[in-house]
Amino acid sequence: MIKIPTKVLLVDDEEDFVEMLSLRLKELGEKVSIAYSGQEGLDTLVTTPIDVVILDIKMPGMDGIETLREIKKQFPLVEVIMLTGHGSTETAVEGMKLGAFDYLMKPADFGDLSAKLEGARKRKDEQEERIRKAEVKLLVRKSGGLS
Ligand SMILES: [Mg+2]
Repeated sequence: MIKIPTKVLLVDDEEDFVEMLSLRLKELGEKVSIAYSGQEGLDTLVTTPIDVVILDIKMPGMDGIETLREIKKQFPLVEVIMLTGHGSTETAVEGMKLGAFDYLMKPADFGDLSAKLEGARKRKDEQEERIRKAEVKLLVRKSGGLS
């Protein structure tokens, strides 16, 4: 079976971590974009189609929660997986209430991360499929076809 790459955006201020994770995700066949701040991440989303954002919560400037709010406001179909530090379960819960798919505690296990990435991608695909079906129904109704 041919794997369709997931378009992933990594947003984290730790450059070494971003580069290491980017390499490993590319080895899995994913298409990876990187950003080192929340603002840079949002700018990337404007210019680049993305399925899933892996988002660090603790960043200088615009933090992860603020970035998450903006992502969900501007790109509601993009899924977000948060990376949190120890003792930030409350932040993780807050993020999920704001629409994040899930979270991972840093240092994240790569197996867990790739499993969650797959889950997030699946949720996005399913949601887009539901929207497509609803749009087809709408078109049929508008054209005076089946009611
Ligand atoms: Mg950080």
